[in-house]
Amino acid sequence: MGMTQNIPRRVSFYTVGCRLNQAETALLADRFRQLGFEPVKFGDMTDVLVVNTCSVTEGAEADCRRVVRRVLRKSPDAFVAVTGCYAQTGADTLQAIDGIDLILGTQYKMQLPEYVASLPTYDKPAKPELLHTKKIDHENFTLEGTGDYSTTRANLKIQDGCQFMCSFCLIPFARGRERSRQVDDAIREATELADRGHRELVLTGVNIGQYQDADVDILTLLERLEAIPGLDRIRISSIEPTTIPDPLLDYMANSDKVCRFLHVPLQSGDDRILKAMNRRYTVREYVAFIEKAACRVPDLCIGTDVMVGFPGETEQEFANTRSLVSDLPFAYLHVFSYSSRPGTAAVRIPNPVAPEVIKERSQSLAKISQRQRVVFYQKFVGRMVSVLFETQNSAGLWTGLTDHYVKVGVPSREDLKNEMRSVIVTGVTDGLALGSLNESFAQPVAHHHTDLLSLTSQAI
Ligand code: SF4
Repeated sequence: MGMTQNIPRRVSFYTVGCRLNQAETALLADRFRQLGFEPVKFGDMTDVLVVNTCSVTEGAEADCRRVVRRVLRKSPDAFVAVTGCYAQTGADTLQAIDGIDLILGTQYKMQLPEYVASLPTYDKPAKPELLHTKKIDHENFTLEGTGDYSTTRANLKIQDGCQFMCSFCLIPFARGRERSRQVDDAIREATELADRGHRELVLTGVNIGQYQDADVDILTLLERLEAIPGLDRIRISSIEPTTIPDPLLDYMANSDKVCRFLHVPLQSGDDRILKAMNRRYTVREYVAFIEKAACRVPDLCIGTDVMVGFPGETEQEFANTRSLVSDLPFAYLHVFSYSSRPGTAAVRIPNPVAPEVIKERSQSLAKISQRQRVVFYQKFVGRMVSVLFETQNSAGLWTGLTDHYVKVGVPSREDLKNEMRSVIVTGVTDGLALGSLNESFAQPVAHHHTDLLSLTSQAI
């Protein structure tokens, strides 16, 4: 590599897919740093590239090829290590991609930094080394280090794996059976993340409602996390509807720190399709849950995943989904187009839906989602909200999220990054609520009124 001993080796990362992958990349980056490597921005010259892949949709292979090619153009000698779900499920295909030097399956994923650090040479080998096993441990686990994030919000991995075996999903094969992080280890990382200045943590895993370490479940874990000084918000990421403990709703309603936010995958609004998907609820049960949640947690932000084009999905079955998602108080939908994943049960279901029909269905739900977001955001107009600011957008507004997951933009000359401020919401544009910082404590009352008026008219 032509490097002298005392220049740290550079390592860059490319992450595809879900929040859990992001959490794991952040931990890998931290480990590499501890081992004397220097994490650099993806796209900069690097000595080692780590690609953390996903196998949830088709295109994982193409993504991987593209990323590897792109990095090798700039850093032709870079040592390329690939891990993640696609390294587990598509290891054979990856071995045939030019430029890849190391493939680590799920079982070895978190040992990647140590393994790379222990290599005697970073010369690119003639053929990639493969560390892979079908078996993935399902003991409770700990993780080393503390996620390395440049963002305001940090992810906290608390769980891995899933054995619900939804018929379309490859994750149980890619990540193995469910297992939970040891609670003291989760609290350790959360405390360090808070010490590093992260004021909001997002709890992350594959099926986090299944969290269980001895007698600690998701609810008791939340209680423990709430006690961490410096941490202002704890957000639960996607959680399966059948795994949400009932007391969680009241807890969320009354907590100062747990965000009033639930992302609860629906997938389909038709009972026959839900059954074929091997989902664990009926439409009626799902609706009952959402109604209960919306009623018990004031202004709760409820988002969902919906899948269109599951094999055999008829016009009528899709119409059932469309009318259900329109009727329920969702703040937004994540719409997924079904894609066949070899190895899953759904590949054997006949009558695939034509790609152009899938596209139409997906677009029709995307429109509903846009409307729902505006309706949800509008509830907050005229109200005071707390915003944790993250970044400045291209129009120069400082943007951040409320605990209800409303993205708010305000004009300000101050550097608001990582600041939690009171904001009066004045209006809603495309995907953004507009507001003004509530400076009333710092300003005379008369002034404050003028401010409010002028900003309201600005927003309109
Ligand atoms: S709950 Fe279903 S969709 Fe979610 S990871 Fe498990 S098998 Fe996949």
